[in-house]
Amino acid sequence: MSITNLEPMSRNSFETNGAALSAGDNNSSMNLEIVASNSAETVGAAENAADNNSGKLVLSKQNQSTSLKADGGEVNSNVHIQDLIAMIRHAEKNVHLLNQARICALEDLEKILSEKKTLQGEINSLEMRLAETDARIRVASQERLHVELLEDQLKKLQTELSRRGGTLENIHDIIPNNDIIQSLSEEVNLLRTENISLKEDLQVLKAELTDIKGTGERVVLMEKEHSYFESSVKELERKITVSQEDVSKLSTLKSECKSLWERVDHLQTLLDKATKQADQASLVLQENQVLRKKVEEMEETLEEANVYKISSEKLQEYNDLMQQKIKHLDERLQRSDEEIHSYIQLYQESLNEFQDTLNILREESKRSKLAEPANDMPRKFWSRMLLMVDAWYFEKKIEFDNASLLREMIWKRDGRIRDAYMECKEKNERETITTFLGLISSADRPGLHVIHIAAEMAPVAKVGGLGDVLTGLSKALQQKGHLVEVVLPKYDCMQYEHVQDLRGLDMILESFFEGRMFRNKVWVGTVEGLPVYFIEPHHPGNFFWRGQLYGEHDDFRRFSYFSRAALELLLQLGKRPDIIHCHDWQTAFVAPLYWDIYAPKGLNSARICFTCHNFEYQGTAPASELALCGLDVSHLNRPDRMQDHSAHDRINPLKGAIVYSNIVTTVSPTYAQEVRTAEGGKGLHSTLNSHSKKFVGILNGIDTDTWNPATDIYLKVQYSVNDLQGKHDNKEALRRQLHLSSADVCRPLVGCVTRLVPQKGVHLIRHAIYRTLELGGQFVLLGSSPVPHIQKEFEEIANHFQSHEHVRLLLKYDESLSHIIYAASDMLIIPSIFEPCGLTQMIAMKYGSVPVARKTGGLNDSVFDIDDDSIPVQFRNGYTFFTADEQGFNSALDRAIYHYKNDRDSWQQLVQKNMNIDFSWDSSALQYEELYLKSVARAKAANRS
Ligand code: ADP
Repeated sequence: MSITNLEPMSRNSFETNGAALSAGDNNSSMNLEIVASNSAETVGAAENAADNNSGKLVLSKQNQSTSLKADGGEVNSNVHIQDLIAMIRHAEKNVHLLNQARICALEDLEKILSEKKTLQGEINSLEMRLAETDARIRVASQERLHVELLEDQLKKLQTELSRRGGTLENIHDIIPNNDIIQSLSEEVNLLRTENISLKEDLQVLKAELTDIKGTGERVVLMEKEHSYFESSVKELERKITVSQEDVSKLSTLKSECKSLWERVDHLQTLLDKATKQADQASLVLQENQVLRKKVEEMEETLEEANVYKISSEKLQEYNDLMQQKIKHLDERLQRSDEEIHSYIQLYQESLNEFQDTLNILREESKRSKLAEPANDMPRKFWSRMLLMVDAWYFEKKIEFDNASLLREMIWKRDGRIRDAYMECKEKNERETITTFLGLISSADRPGLHVIHIAAEMAPVAKVGGLGDVLTGLSKALQQKGHLVEVVLPKYDCMQYEHVQDLRGLDMILESFFEGRMFRNKVWVGTVEGLPVYFIEPHHPGNFFWRGQLYGEHDDFRRFSYFSRAALELLLQLGKRPDIIHCHDWQTAFVAPLYWDIYAPKGLNSARICFTCHNFEYQGTAPASELALCGLDVSHLNRPDRMQDHSAHDRINPLKGAIVYSNIVTTVSPTYAQEVRTAEGGKGLHSTLNSHSKKFVGILNGIDTDTWNPATDIYLKVQYSVNDLQGKHDNKEALRRQLHLSSADVCRPLVGCVTRLVPQKGVHLIRHAIYRTLELGGQFVLLGSSPVPHIQKEFEEIANHFQSHEHVRLLLKYDESLSHIIYAASDMLIIPSIFEPCGLTQMIAMKYGSVPVARKTGGLNDSVFDIDDDSIPVQFRNGYTFFTADEQGFNSALDRAIYHYKNDRDSWQQLVQKNMNIDFSWDSSALQYEELYLKSVARAKAANRS
């Protein structure tokens, strides 16, 4: 019998001192393998090994350990219960199978015992026969001696006879006993044969005797095996009891958790109610405003009437009526004001109540988390942890304070220690130390200090996606409790109305450039709630006084100057940031400047994170220009540092940032893959590949405060996923504004908001205008181009369609119009040749406009074709195509328009589904946060060792 089908994740053969047990004859031989869940746990590994060596059954330590993890919320608890139940089932199966094996073994044992008895009988009879034969042999040999004596005598007689001359006849006279001799010799022969056969019998008996002895040994072995089975079964039964206790503890925890959630749900309902009331209140407020306006109008009319002093009776009556109406309106106004106040009060109260209860719940959960030790690990685990931390301290790998904090956590059996240890199973000691120190920093530090140095920030200085990312990411990080600051150039063309509390600092910042020091004025203000430093250089080049952000002949000088001045500012202000995050080639200089110049000067607390938003733009320049900002050209103009791949005498700032930063990111996972290839990397693929360990792609999010149709101030009518009427109203409003035909409400409106550069697939955008018309749609483009011939080409197309009822091209940058187009359009096209991330597809979906996009870069990570069966239905959200030609594009646009026209219900469902997708910065910011934390922890560990 073989019990190899016992269940589970891994297999442990059941062995005694390494040898598999086997018993019985060939038919009943037994080869047991007890299999239990034991998914390669390091913690349990040593113990498992010990257990295996002593021949005991081993149950999964992991399953035991996970059973009581209560802080993971309800989902985790469920998982643990399921694990436990599965474990118990496995154990029960094991017990059942072991019982079967035991019964078999007992049967075998009985069989063997009866066999042994029979054999013993045979042995006895054979032994008797042996004794008999021995006696007969003895008699036979005596007779043989006698015969030999007689033969001797015969011979002697014959000699005597021949000597006396006698004949054979008288021999018989001489030897009267010849017959006796004959019979004796026959008997001797018979005895010899018998003797031989007895010897053979003896051999057979001896062999049988050896067999019987072997059987006896096997019986002993079987008995041993039997006792092992019994102890194993007992062990299993004990473990099942422990598991059942665990399950019951878990279900208590679960029910506690459930009651907590019920309380939260209750509070949520209260909040919803209060929100509804507040909504109603705001409606009443709106009504009031209308009424107030009316009152004002009437008062004006009254005044006019008074001025003209028309004293007719009718007018008097009219005046009275008006007065009455005003009074009436005033009363209504007062009433509704009171109503609003009561609603607001109610709302405020329930909000406070909700907040209080939430705080209590948080406190409770925090307390229970802290108070609840992770009892699922054996005591020796915690002792081992303690010794490990002590060893780190004694070997000077960690400091005393950190060792004490870790010891305290171990002492309290903090589950985070167990989790960190599990996480570090495959890691080396240094990485393990980093992870453990991370526990302390995350537990005791308020957050990280992150400073972004960048050339754009929405909405004050935005050209494209970089501006959006800077603001969105910074806000999300700030919300997570980190201190986030931004350093920007002070452009003359900024949207100053979006800067709050702007003021010049009473300090002069001197920074190095072109071999001497230049003065800068430093301004501070807040943008979207973020603290921002603006640097205004007093350099004769008037670097940021150009009426535009980029595209100047001396961009390399402008931004290398800014990068150095920004670091100088941090040094002068005595900042000690954990992370300096720079973006694109314009602030890529920060990385080499920091390590070569500023870290030695004492600005050495930070790790450098660099994000490339587009590898197309690398900012290369003649190598000598690098010296302007104080960098050492001979040191940096090397193929493995900043030298451009295309020419020995050119320097590449983007490459410098890749080489000199601790973290390098780009804006989507697919783009991160694409730029590692020769076609996608624009000459930097080999640099990226040799620094691939620190390079990662994180999909951008969008700032959902800015991009929210329910609160968007630029829209004619705000709307939400539950009320799409506003979307139709915006479509109508845009049609009116742009003098497009409104004759057919069902005519789809195709939008495009983009920079008009080759990357964006301008030939396909142009084609889309004509194709949309052919398919019976309307087309609106908002875009501007820094490339003169593209701008000219599109101006011509715009002129051609200037009075067309279904096409409008707006060749400019216009923030408010972009919002209206996202809201008004039914579809948005993004036919990019390559697209690092792309934000317009995400914004479009948030506004209920279905994206029609090419599968490349970040579009590939965020737009999934409705008809693509390889993608789960719930993720499908748009129309995509791959080949960057007209046919490819048609294959997507045609399907989209067909869908829109022929199945309005399912189109509306798609729109609503897309509006509900979470494109916020939350999850992306979390990834940045993790990268920052790891890098900071690594730096700390490195400093210590
Ligand atoms: P990129 O950064 O390559 O320009 P993204 O899709 O990442 O492309 O970001 C584009 C951002 O710029 C979006 O917020 C989009 O609304 C905005 N945008 C692009 N062109 C215009 C324009 N002509 N007017 C207003 N906003 C624009």
